[in-house]
Amino acid sequence: MTNISKALFERAINVMPGGVNSPVRAFKAVGGNPLFIDRADGSKIYDVDGNEYIDYVCSWGPMILGHNNAAVREAVAKASQKGMSFGAPTEAEVRLAEKIVSFVPGIEMVRMVNSGTEAVMSALRLARACTGRRKVVKFEGCYHGHADAMLVKAGSGALTLGEPDSPGVPESAAGETLVAAYNDLDGVEALLKKNDVACVIVEPVAANMGVVLPRDGFLSGLKELCAACGALLVFDEVITGFRLGKGGAQEYYGVAADLAVYGKIIGGGMPVGAYGGRREIMELVAPSGPVYQAGTLSGNPVAMAAGLAQLEALENRDVYNHIDKMGERLALGLSGIAQRSGLKAGVNRVGSLVCLFFGIESADDYKSVKKADTERYARYFHGMMDKGVYLAPSQFEAMFVSAAHTESDIDATLDKAERTLR
Ligand SMILES: *Cc1c(COP(=O)(O)O)cnc(C)c1O
Repeated sequence: MTNISKALFERAINVMPGGVNSPVRAFKAVGGNPLFIDRADGSKIYDVDGNEYIDYVCSWGPMILGHNNAAVREAVAKASQKGMSFGAPTEAEVRLAEKIVSFVPGIEMVRMVNSGTEAVMSALRLARACTGRRKVVKFEGCYHGHADAMLVKAGSGALTLGEPDSPGVPESAAGETLVAAYNDLDGVEALLKKNDVACVIVEPVAANMGVVLPRDGFLSGLKELCAACGALLVFDEVITGFRLGKGGAQEYYGVAADLAVYGKIIGGGMPVGAYGGRREIMELVAPSGPVYQAGTLSGNPVAMAAGLAQLEALENRDVYNHIDKMGERLALGLSGIAQRSGLKAGVNRVGSLVCLFFGIESADDYKSVKKADTERYARYFHGMMDKGVYLAPSQFEAMFVSAAHTESDIDATLDKAERTLR
């Protein structure tokens, strides 16, 4: 069934660490060999062995319109005919920046970069420069890319000083990072009282430990705590941005951050990230201000064309109505199946982000999520893959529903899930 994938993986391991360019792709958390992908279209993805799958990875979020969207594809083709990169200003980057500013309340200026990681790194530098403070607060289980300061998980206890999560991260970088428990305002307050904190960075919906929703009042509470002590609130909207709606989590939850960070959807499948916020903060960035940050390929015209075409498509409210409806159908269906099969499981959802947790009934912070039954997930993952559904190869990732997913895709998925779990 997967002979060509297997052969490619053997070659890949020889020339790339673990055979991949990003760790989770290697299927370590579920076992087996990764699929090598040949192409994708709409809600379907096809491996090099010719198997078809309903795709809930969607490139980890960017493909909100579905794969191979005609408008995005044509915009890329057209832009690429004019040249791949100039290292000089273009109209496309102005138009994409204007689009983002028009979409997101509170964002007055943006700077384009090439990944979510780079956007986070740059936003942290800006927050530190803006406040003249060094410490940053992040939350256990939130992922903000692989910059040194963010590769920190909490030790035991809810509130700990950061310890590096990876060899190669110096304690001098990790030690400036304080870790709080998600959804725990008291913990954040205690950290803010004791330390001079430049910013609190948070995934407004934590979508890198499965899907964990903010409790009522958590995000607005963060805003108040930050405002009271002069720290900036940074929303990492790399997943939620343009997914929970045009204005992302800021609009969805009605909380304006001081800075917001984007990636994934913003590039339409091309490598794009961005950070933005109020004018007086963003004007500290070079060359209008002293905070240095640059990029040879930042604002790349082909990538900007892809992002612009995708955001233009998202101006149609129907897209959000559809993905929310499909997300709801999927989540309700999965809950029902879990109940009928007598499995201990829980489903978390917001909009088109869905997660089926095995072994736990509720998940609202890292401590609860960590109790999930990852072995059962691995078996479910392989059962679903054998039946033609491509899920994330880890319990701690979201299912992404796109505009191309139809009711019959969802119902077919539920049918396969029921058979797998039985
Ligand atoms: C994916 C992700 C990042 C990192 O983005 P890259 O483009 O992979 O560097 C940062 N924050 C969140 C919330 C993400 O999901």
